[in-house]
Amino acid sequence: MVEIAEDQVLARLAKVKGPDLEGNIVELGMVSGLLIDDGKVIFSINVPAERAQELEPLRNAAEQSVMKLDGVSKVIAVLTGERKAGAAPVRPAPSIDQASSVPPPMQAQATRSAAEAPAQKAGVPGIKSIIAVASGKGGVGKSTTSVNLALGLLGQGMKVGVLDADIYGPSMPRLLGITDRPSANGRILNPLEAFGLKVMSIGFLVEEDTPMIWRGPMVISALTQMLREVAWGDLDVLIVDMPPGTGDAQLTMAQQVPLAGAVIVSTPQDIALIDARKGLNMFRKVEVPILGLIENMSTFICPGCGEQSDIFGHGGARKEAENLGVPFLGEIPLHIDIRSNSDGGTPVTVSAPDGPHAALYNEIAERVVQRIDAEGAAKSAPSIVFD
Ligand code: ADP
Repeated sequence: MVEIAEDQVLARLAKVKGPDLEGNIVELGMVSGLLIDDGKVIFSINVPAERAQELEPLRNAAEQSVMKLDGVSKVIAVLTGERKAGAAPVRPAPSIDQASSVPPPMQAQATRSAAEAPAQKAGVPGIKSIIAVASGKGGVGKSTTSVNLALGLLGQGMKVGVLDADIYGPSMPRLLGITDRPSANGRILNPLEAFGLKVMSIGFLVEEDTPMIWRGPMVISALTQMLREVAWGDLDVLIVDMPPGTGDAQLTMAQQVPLAGAVIVSTPQDIALIDARKGLNMFRKVEVPILGLIENMSTFICPGCGEQSDIFGHGGARKEAENLGVPFLGEIPLHIDIRSNSDGGTPVTVSAPDGPHAALYNEIAERVVQRIDAEGAAKSAPSIVFD
């Protein structure tokens, strides 16, 4: 195997001219986050956020240039947006192994935390709002909620996509009953469709039970490809089903994806709420608005006798949302119909569109739309400054 050295990569990148054909991208300090992993080379090119679309050819040229190196099998260049021209390059929060593989001048930046350098991320053309659905831990029903929320939004006449970013345990193929593989048009993958949703999942490309050990940077490059190299077309909303937890990879993803906001799913018991709080803080760190909290498995209605039992307690998330000053979006009971339909590949909003569960998801979807509008309005409103 041919060893690839960082200075070889930088020398290739130095052949790529800057945005206005002045200097080169290395000399201009635009390259960061260089990672070499076997034959795979990944790096970021920092550009002014408003020029990201126009500079796509530059990204392409950088990839092509590095591809020419002996031993390189794959190159992924990601455009990251700078807050303002001339500011220090903004980079994704690196994982430990990424930090150790970059040259010393970059390493100093690489150890900066995401919190110190929130990036203004380049949007995805055609997609109006990207929303993360996250949870502090697995098994709380995050993916089930993502799908039914997406279908609720679709029911309001929106064009909706779902990106299964739960790279550790993709569940969209199962939840939506999709067994096909996506077709590709050159480098660009075509999303699959289910019940009117456009869907992309790493689970379409590898078997669900394949053990996947993803290191931080690999997760990021897989996500970047699934986000930016998919023919999503025009979407009002893209729901991103995030991996559970609040580790380095999750934080980086929260920072890399141009999110309009995040929805946190929690079960009512305290322990899950502690995790939910961590999830919330993670998004706050990278300045992503919290659209609200959903309590899943909120209460159990016995299908036989109709009696309500609060197996995991009840109302914890509503109370917690109040304490934390974030909106409460609604509660979904623990119900066999939700489980059996979801796991059978037909979400409950599709199998029983007029049933009580679909009504709950639809209400939540309405609240989410209101919250996106409110956040959008708050962003575009002029800020009032008191001297
Ligand atoms: P996560 O994405 O948080 O890991 P999933 O959405 O995969 O969780 O849900 C875990 C399991 O719980 C699945 O079998 C799913 O069908 C079930 N489930 C999720 N929400 C509910 C609910 N409200 N009622 C009953 N079962 C549920």
